[in-house]
Amino acid sequence: MDTLFTFGIGGIICFFFLVIYLRSLKKREARALDAAEKGKLYSHGPQAQHPHIDNNYCIGCATCTSVCPEGDVLAMIGGKAVIVNGHKCIGHALCADACPVGAITMVMASPSMARDMPQLTPEHETTIPGLFIIGELGGLALIKNAVNQGRDCVDNIAARLKEQPIPPMPGVHDILIVGAGPAGISASLRAIENKLNYLTIERDEIGGTVAKYPRQKLVMTSPVEFPMYGKFKKMQLSKENLLAFWDMILNRADFNVCTGEKVDDIQKGPDRIFTVITTTNQYRARTVVLALGRAGEPRKLGVKGEDLPKVMYRLIEADHYINKKILVIGGGDSAVEAAMGLASQKGNQVTLSYRSERFSRIKERNATRIQEFIKSGKVRVLFNSNPVEFKPESVILEVAGQQQEIPNDFVWIRCHARNQQGCQTGRCRAQGTCPSCRCARPLRQQPIR
Ligand SMILES: Cc1cc2nc3c(=O)[nH]c(=O)nc-3n(C[C@H](O)[C@H](O)[C@H](O)COP(=O)(O)OP(=O)(O)OC[C@H]3O[C@@H](n4cnc5c(N)ncnc54)[C@H](O)[C@@H]3O)c2cc1C
Repeated sequence: MDTLFTFGIGGIICFFFLVIYLRSLKKREARALDAAEKGKLYSHGPQAQHPHIDNNYCIGCATCTSVCPEGDVLAMIGGKAVIVNGHKCIGHALCADACPVGAITMVMASPSMARDMPQLTPEHETTIPGLFIIGELGGLALIKNAVNQGRDCVDNIAARLKEQPIPPMPGVHDILIVGAGPAGISASLRAIENKLNYLTIERDEIGGTVAKYPRQKLVMTSPVEFPMYGKFKKMQLSKENLLAFWDMILNRADFNVCTGEKVDDIQKGPDRIFTVITTTNQYRARTVVLALGRAGEPRKLGVKGEDLPKVMYRLIEADHYINKKILVIGGGDSAVEAAMGLASQKGNQVTLSYRSERFSRIKERNATRIQEFIKSGKVRVLFNSNPVEFKPESVILEVAGQQQEIPNDFVWIRCHARNQQGCQTGRCRAQGTCPSCRCARPLRQQPIR
């Protein structure tokens, strides 16, 4: 009788915990379905690299859903991991690392989804033999990815040059690297390690996008094998410390860079040698590695008064602006983030002007936050509006067909950037326009062969 009683009590306790567990599963699944619905609202799926889950192996442990720094890219539905917000994935790949059964691999979006992504081989080569793309321009953000791609791409080029030895040609570099952000720095250092005759060209300053981060920004990164250094294990450090680290290695190495020189054109001759034309020079190289990033050139609107010093395209330190009347133009994440950043500073009056009737595919986090800013009156949003003229102390806007002049101290134009270089991948040739910069500019006169 006692035994039966003990079993009964045990059974009730087990049943109690089972009910709690099943309820929490149900709640988790409801949250996942909700996230999936929202994901549908904000995108048509992954736009670049994203996890691919092999359902045959997924054991439903949910580890992958908890490690992603971007939030709900993955969720558990029906006991399996599924992608619910693919557009949020920027390639951390922590889900793949965390999966205990190896059910997750990182893959690129299909070319139809990744409309403005260049078509690349696994060696990062474009459809033009000898022309490579690494780093963010290839579709994959994050410093660790840029470093890994720069290193691996140059290793492949070195192996190829070894396999097909050609006598050295005077004035012809083995590799010409365009851009000295993390991808270009990593590629350059690997070229030194491989004893290649290389040259790096940078239009601006060394460090790329990182050099443009706000002061003391905390940079999140992952352990990565850094050429000429070894394992770089820091997970977070300030922008200044990261730049100082690169500076230290570049000073130690014989870094062959031309800064302040912008690459304007690249042509491939019948001898299969590339001619790289910059603002001040011409160089010849057997291979070219484009590490241009995706920051591109700021998009100018062609509006009267746009050359006034108060009209800017890049916002580095929002806290430098207080008690000002500010207009931000654009409807994407960068415009919304700039408006919210400026509106959070003391005494600023921020207006956000966007030509469409609603924001264009912005991150869910931004969509929620901007609503709060609008509700609290911190940001005034004018949809269906366009700037007509920027004046020293005001701005004329056309709002729903009517012109209105508003007092103004500063303007930030945060529309889609154009990548001056274009993608040069051959898709331009196929389509007759450049899909990388979306400027629909016609194919250049002398396409790369
Ligand atoms: C605000 C912000 C915060 C971020 N925070 C993080 C973070 O915490 N952790 C993280 O891992 N990633 C972060 N990222 C992303 C990371 O900065 C990028 O993924 C990375 O810098 C890409 O490296 P890249 O070398 O491909 O390109 P970039 O860093 O953009 O470098 C490209 C270089 O090419 C040069 N260039 C372009 N065109 C030409 C030309 N025609 N001729 C000569 N030179 C040219 C540019 O001047 C630039 O120096 C952040 C990005 C932003 C915008």
